Amino acid sequence: MRFSRMLLPTLKESPADADVVSQRLMMRAGMIRKVAAGIYNLLPLGFKVVKKVEGIIREEMNRAGAQEVLMPMVIPAELWQESGRWEEYGKELLRVNDRHNREFCLGPTHEEVITDMVRREVRSYRELPMNIYQIQTKFRDEIRPRFGLMRGREFIMKDAYSFHATDESADQEYRNMYETYCRIFERCGLEFRAVEAETGAIGGRFSHEFMVLAETGEDAIAACDACSYAANVERAEVRAVEPSNEPESQRPVERVSTPGQKTIEEVSAFLKIPREKLIKTLIYETDQGIVAALVRGDYELNEMKLKRTLDSAFVKLADEQKVRETTGAPVGFASPVKLKCRVIADHSVRELRDAVTGANEADAHTVNVNPGRDFKAEFADIRNAVEGDGCPRCAGKLTIKRGIEVGHIFKLGTKYSVAMGATFLDEEGKEKPMIMGCYGIGVGRTAAASVEQNHDEFGIIWPRPLSPFECEIVPVNVKDAGTVNAAEALYEELKGKGVDVLLDDRDERAGVKFKDADLIGIPLRVTIGERNLKQGLVEIKERKTGTVKLVKTEDSAGEVLRTISA
Ligand code: ATP
Ligand code: MG
Repeated sequence: MRFSRMLLPTLKESPADADVVSQRLMMRAGMIRKVAAGIYNLLPLGFKVVKKVEGIIREEMNRAGAQEVLMPMVIPAELWQESGRWEEYGKELLRVNDRHNREFCLGPTHEEVITDMVRREVRSYRELPMNIYQIQTKFRDEIRPRFGLMRGREFIMKDAYSFHATDESADQEYRNMYETYCRIFERCGLEFRAVEAETGAIGGRFSHEFMVLAETGEDAIAACDACSYAANVERAEVRAVEPSNEPESQRPVERVSTPGQKTIEEVSAFLKIPREKLIKTLIYETDQGIVAALVRGDYELNEMKLKRTLDSAFVKLADEQKVRETTGAPVGFASPVKLKCRVIADHSVRELRDAVTGANEADAHTVNVNPGRDFKAEFADIRNAVEGDGCPRCAGKLTIKRGIEVGHIFKLGTKYSVAMGATFLDEEGKEKPMIMGCYGIGVGRTAAASVEQNHDEFGIIWPRPLSPFECEIVPVNVKDAGTVNAAEALYEELKGKGVDVLLDDRDERAGVKFKDADLIGIPLRVTIGERNLKQGLVEIKERKTGTVKLVKTEDSAGEVLRTISA
């Protein structure tokens, strides 16, 4: 392709409304342009990268035995009503009416459509398992579309759905997809982690998120520094601390006056006692009644873990009145001592000696509180993991990293097949709901994540598999006939050998062309200039390392071919 003929509008300045590096660089490199909030045009260069990502995904999905289809983007409301999600999904679901006033939505995901498709066609266990995927445009009316292609409203997703007769078969496909995803993101040249998103919950439901590690990621990940354990911070398990052999305290419990001091910070400052000697007592409403949840003052309670520990349908912080009824005090002064409700305490509370709690009365706290001696509790892991916590799988320590979720695999179980009647006949002729899994990858987000991970102050550094071109030729001065002839000859030769090559044939200053080359980040650049040509040489430069090589003009095509196929 000739630069002069290409819609490749590079920008010298960063656009004002770009929040992250990938968005800034993809705008500047003329890859994307905003049409409306979260809705983008993919210009030729951006489109080429997206097609590269899609190509890798398609190859690996096909190799894994999945089959490609294309489902509609516009979905009748009835299907979503059948699954119950028409009511559940909320405002991210863009709903539209047709000319007959029938309701439709723009598909944000396609469990309903695929379940409908499969229930109509598949009858017997003999036809199972199957894995069906598509690469298609989704629409989600995200509340805060931002970061360019990373969180759009309209975006391209690869979504796959598998159907099984047995649980073992579903688990096997889950592992197959896990490995396939690892291959896909490795081939994309990304540094990533597969992260446990939900573990051991009832009904065999589990899921992994694939996270590209980058400072700008929206998700926090707890990853072990010794083994492969990694989990979303909200889900990460924390190894319980070893029981201490500190002797029990002999100090009696004592009430102290703390007028107006409610929060952990206030009480800690007022009593001059560090936060890790305080016990936070939070009163929750659950489907099993009122529960007091305890964590050490410097930690955060994790409601999801509390909910799972209790196996409760919901957990909700109790309102002022319920707190008063339970503790006899306003919010901020609760104590587990002599509290008449179930008490769940985080493992971090167990080893505390002479701790501080509320006093179950206004403007007072209790000091020298000792778990076991002064109150009874059930101990569980109910707090957020923090840097330095023990890994739940090995003796290592957890570190907190940031990541961008590019893929998600999920064992769905029978949620949709039961709701929508997707059944099959098993070997004994008994009718059963199919067991399902679903597997998504954000295509545009993967491209953007690659830029987040691979760039420098001058621009993008494409990993070879995602690069929009394999090589760029830069003739320094297009007014010099010799330069032009050499550049054109190399261009034709490389094209003839099947290399996807960009020729910067613009009549621009050398500085402008070099800046643009660095910005758009093609891995290999051949620079053709008068001075080198006089000695029969051209310069080949690697974008990533900056390594420069002078090669004989007649060897240049061969050298390019060798490098790109290495
Ligand atoms: P997030 O938590 O980031 O909103 P999600 O859990 O809603 O993601 P899924 O429903 O699992 O995402 O969708 C599968 C994949 O689609 C995600 O892993 C992500 O790569 C991509 N994706 C989801 N929402 C968006 C979006 N708004 N813009 C671009 N890609 C997206
Ligand atoms: Mg989302």
